Amino acid sequence: MEKETVKETVVSKNFIEQIIEKDLEEGKYEEICTRFPPEPNGYLHIGHAKSILLNYGLAQKYHGKFNMRFDDTNPTKEKVEFVESIKADIKWLGADWEDRLYFASNYFEQMYEAAVKLIKKGKAFVCDLTAEEIREYRGTLTEPGKESPYRNRSVEENLELFEKMKNGEFEDGSKVLRAKIDMASPNINMRDPVIYRVAHMTHHNTGDKWCIYPMYDFAHPIEDAIEGVTHSICTLEFEDHRPLYDWVVRELEYAHPPKQIEFAKLYLTNVVTGKRYIKKLVEDGIVDGWDDPRLVSIAALRRRGFTPESIQKFVELCGVSKANSSVDYAMLEYCIREDLKMKAPRMMAILDPVKVVIDNYPEGEMEYLEVPNNMENPELGSRQVPFGRELYIEREDFMEVPVKKYKRLYPDNEVRLMNAYFVTCTGVEKDEEGNVTVIHCTYDPASKGGNSPDGRKVKGTIHWVCADTAVKAECRLYENIVDEEKGVYNKEDGSLNLNPNSLTVVKDCMVEPELGKAEAYDRFQFVRNGFFCADCHDSKPGSPVFNRIVSLKSSFKLK
Ligand code: ATP
Ligand code: MG
Repeated sequence: MEKETVKETVVSKNFIEQIIEKDLEEGKYEEICTRFPPEPNGYLHIGHAKSILLNYGLAQKYHGKFNMRFDDTNPTKEKVEFVESIKADIKWLGADWEDRLYFASNYFEQMYEAAVKLIKKGKAFVCDLTAEEIREYRGTLTEPGKESPYRNRSVEENLELFEKMKNGEFEDGSKVLRAKIDMASPNINMRDPVIYRVAHMTHHNTGDKWCIYPMYDFAHPIEDAIEGVTHSICTLEFEDHRPLYDWVVRELEYAHPPKQIEFAKLYLTNVVTGKRYIKKLVEDGIVDGWDDPRLVSIAALRRRGFTPESIQKFVELCGVSKANSSVDYAMLEYCIREDLKMKAPRMMAILDPVKVVIDNYPEGEMEYLEVPNNMENPELGSRQVPFGRELYIEREDFMEVPVKKYKRLYPDNEVRLMNAYFVTCTGVEKDEEGNVTVIHCTYDPASKGGNSPDGRKVKGTIHWVCADTAVKAECRLYENIVDEEKGVYNKEDGSLNLNPNSLTVVKDCMVEPELGKAEAYDRFQFVRNGFFCADCHDSKPGSPVFNRIVSLKSSFKLK
């Protein structure tokens, strides 16, 4: 008997899963709750996708809840515009907040009350120092800070002043509310941090109701506590803020205190993710909007043709860690290729067409050949592809004087037209400049389907499109928006080193008729040319526009 092979699957848990499992085992929480808290001040990018899928994935895995919360405590302009895009992006990624869509600005009343509670406990005070003075008093990493002269105001005075702050009796910047913690703390975040400021600004949600706004470090733990978030997952730069998070939660005496856990941000090598840079590219007209397919905003990835599944896979492969590192863009490309390999129909599209005439094919005749949509996946069925006397092939698939080892079409050589017939080149026509304009061939009717009639072998197989029924298409080919050789950022002025070839528009492509029917976001493999997606803005049935998602080959290997 054959020895049975036992496959052992070792599923290693990431450090956040380990924390959650311990908390559940110890009965610290009955059910977990995570959240994704974007600030609606830009479009989401691939880094955010990691946070979204991590938080949502944990909630799914441990049968808990995932909340969506706009962290809109900082009133600046143009915020509403981003709320809808963020929601759409998260839905598209596949994360579901069900009915738990929250806005931090809806908690302003509770935050105000929380501040009053701290004042009453003697844990917060109104301070009249200017921003400049507060900075001076704060000390440095090596020197302790100095206490504010306003630190010992009475509870009554603080309550009165804070109420006046709320009622609009003070100018912006003239007074702040500060937590009373420890000016000698080795952690600068604990040196009486500002928790409320006066700002006469109109908020997109609350309008002019408030002229005081809470600071992030004070607001965030309160938002988490109000919603019953158990594990508040954020990125590493907040690690030093965790003692303050814990202080706020403790002093406000929440029954079920949330806990903050930090993980490393996702960085992509040679890719621009910073909102500031993307905004500049958009404003300078270098890209065509936040969803330009050369960007890595979620909207751009979707427009380019990436699938949610490919991004999920990518995030999964990146893993979760405490150490900052950078992942190669090629890994994202690998994920989309893997995902589309079986899903996308394989079609014929000629990006740089040259005409072929088959002289012994009856004039005026046409036939339909049955072609499988995806040789590796019979479930995708087959289609009828027209074939006739005149065809288009890629210009690079013909050489008048072949180089060594060239296996495609050249005079007197026989090749296979994919799924169609064997053809032999008999001659060419040229224009005045010597460019080949027409390639003449003869075909072997006995080789229908591309099968050898007599065991005769051909070395090359090329793709083609029937000229009579071909549809003209535009294909957009992309390269990295930055010049990798020079590095992303210019060392002198910090600007981006742009790659002038990041977009190539190929106008007169010839594609098979089926592709003329493509609708927005339809994805295909174009034989030899890569994976393409019908552009959601510019593609119209009859005059399709395709974005190349990724080429077919890569040197990337999954370790
Ligand atoms: P950016 O740095 O692009 O301006 P941000 O951090 O200001 O992004 P927020 O809206 O504040 O954007 O972020 C929402 C959530 O996404 C936060 O919890 C943040 O930690 C997380 N996040 C942001 N960038 C990344 C990243 N590169 N990798 C993983 N998570 C990220
Ligand atoms: Mg931010």
